[in-house]
Amino acid sequence: MKTLKRFVLVGAPASGKGTQSSFLSETYSLKPLSTGALLRAEIAEESALGLEAKKYMDAAMFVPDEVVNGIVAKWLVENKDSGCLLDGYPRTLAQAETLDVNLNAMDLEVDIVVYLNVALELIQARMLKRKACNACGETTRNGETICPKCGEPMVVRSDDNPEAFAKRWKDYETLTVPIIEHYSKHGKVVQVNVNEEVEPQDVSARIAAAIRAYSEK
Ligand SMILES: [Zn+2]
Repeated sequence: MKTLKRFVLVGAPASGKGTQSSFLSETYSLKPLSTGALLRAEIAEESALGLEAKKYMDAAMFVPDEVVNGIVAKWLVENKDSGCLLDGYPRTLAQAETLDVNLNAMDLEVDIVVYLNVALELIQARMLKRKACNACGETTRNGETICPKCGEPMVVRSDDNPEAFAKRWKDYETLTVPIIEHYSKHGKVVQVNVNEEVEPQDVSARIAAAIRAYSEK
């Protein structure tokens, strides 16, 4: 029976990863890593890394890998005794390689990568049903045409429009897929396939079963 402490969660955009991220952190008592929150905390503290990150964020630019890696490395040291859930990081293969080096230096490693593999047709069908209200900001998932909160018309969410989605899908294929391949080579990937529309709790159950099988290997 393997002890699993450091989890990475990966999946395509609109694959329902957010819901499963909460499921994993609650079920396995994992502390979720939020690079956004860490960056904001470093900036508030005016640490060296925070000041460096702020320069890029003020210019609306991506914070470079070395700054993000540094902030995550610090968090990993602070949380080396707890279970951790990395979601949204590593974002690139280079970040994954740095993560491995930083963990190895602490005699630790990524223990498991949960790959939520949802069929593209399903993701596209879901996206058309994800709506947002321009008046009050309410978001829904069931294709509502009228906002349940304020009665204004609902529109397809701006990050779900075809151009924005195509960009996110391309990022997924060029950035995320190589991370999955990298950890597959090390036998750490647990792939959970979703090819038909099922309830999020059913997906969670599949994930839990796959993790159990992996830990008993
Ligand atoms: Zn509304």
